Amino acid sequence: MTTITRFAPSPTGRLHVGNIRTALHNWMLARKAGGRFMLRIDDTDAERSREEYVDAIREDLAWLGLSPDGEERQSLRLAKYEAAFEALKAAGRVYPAYETAQELELKRKIQLGRGLPPIYDRGALKMTSEERSAKEAEGVLPHWRFKLDHDEPIGWEDGVRGAQKFDPAQLSDPVIRRADGSWLYMLPSAVDDLDMGVTDVLRGEDHVSNTAVQIQMFTALIAAQYAAAKMPSFAHEALLVGKEGKLSKRLGSLGCDAFRERDIEPEAVIALLARLGTSQPVEPIAERARLVDTFDLSTFGRAPAKFDDTELDRLNAAIVHQIDFAEVEGRLPDGMDEAGWHAVRPNLTHVTEAADWWRLVTGPVEQPDFSDEDRAFLALAVDALTWSDTPWQDLTASLKESTGRKGKDLFLPLRRALTGMDHGPDMKELLPLIGEDRSRDRLRAAASG
Ligand code: GLU
Repeated sequence: MTTITRFAPSPTGRLHVGNIRTALHNWMLARKAGGRFMLRIDDTDAERSREEYVDAIREDLAWLGLSPDGEERQSLRLAKYEAAFEALKAAGRVYPAYETAQELELKRKIQLGRGLPPIYDRGALKMTSEERSAKEAEGVLPHWRFKLDHDEPIGWEDGVRGAQKFDPAQLSDPVIRRADGSWLYMLPSAVDDLDMGVTDVLRGEDHVSNTAVQIQMFTALIAAQYAAAKMPSFAHEALLVGKEGKLSKRLGSLGCDAFRERDIEPEAVIALLARLGTSQPVEPIAERARLVDTFDLSTFGRAPAKFDDTELDRLNAAIVHQIDFAEVEGRLPDGMDEAGWHAVRPNLTHVTEAADWWRLVTGPVEQPDFSDEDRAFLALAVDALTWSDTPWQDLTASLKESTGRKGKDLFLPLRRALTGMDHGPDMKELLPLIGEDRSRDRLRAAASG
């Protein structure tokens, strides 16, 4: 059986780092199994869904390199939900309810006040047909609930959490359809998972109780309408939290835009999120195939995964140090060639910083003040400078010989004169890029003070 996973965002906002992690894990699960990764746009909430977010979701996935193998939209599948709803109704698994939101809230408060769990009391099921007719006559339209079977215990082997058990009598019959006919999340998602042949549902642990309810829905749908379909496997990953260990508002808005703005490479985001919260080490792995090969749900921990920006920057630097010139060419300052990229690459945390280092080559550079002694030394350097394939090695060897200077005394005044900086890319690589004329001019300017 082909593995089919899906990422099912609601287009009511931009993807945040938590969503991105879920998308990535579904993508890796499918890739590792040679299966399919589907994008499902959960846009049944017409009021809150926006087309611009649908576009943004596609763009973000493309930027991350998590292209789906297919896309479905719930708003285009309403007929399927209608048919499933009718089938469940005919099977006696769906019933109308007439309580207002205020009535339900009051019931909840009373239950909580008595120290009882706020489970829906099935008041609607106890109504007589006269009472129902009276409601209809008043013009009250019902919303619809799925009737849980209290005699059918709920359990599943969760890919992350292990054996899960729920007592259906301790759960409320979920509302699946509003009075205006629109759908809540629960039923369309189960219908789609069956209809699209989803084999593995991997999502955040905030969905565990939804899964409990949906398992009975899956069973009822398979019996009523989808005889050929199979219940998917479920896995719920621990949530992503800030480094202080709490669910953070900031993480809820941190997404690809912010990463792009900070010049974070998609591969750094991927390398971090692939293994965060697992027992495998987070490493700067730029090669997707390696991440896919080592992807393993059994290494996922139960504790919340901690997202730390400094770890992302560290990974980004390590990823940047691996990028080939051809991959990054279009993002480099004018005139910077492969040798230039190789010279500055080890000094970068972000690719944009290449421009700052490249200015050391193109100039002008701002030199510090030198002592008389250093100026005299730099004057000697002007004369000692000869040009070959190894001008820095030649220059320093000759000055070492003629002045007896070594180490820092030898290198630092030269670096300062040639680049204006105390540190930076390897001078062996930088000097050929600065070139003979500019090098001589800079040494001369420094020598004359
Ligand atoms: N649209 C739901 C969400 O964003 C999908 C959950 C699921 O994966 O089933 O939470």
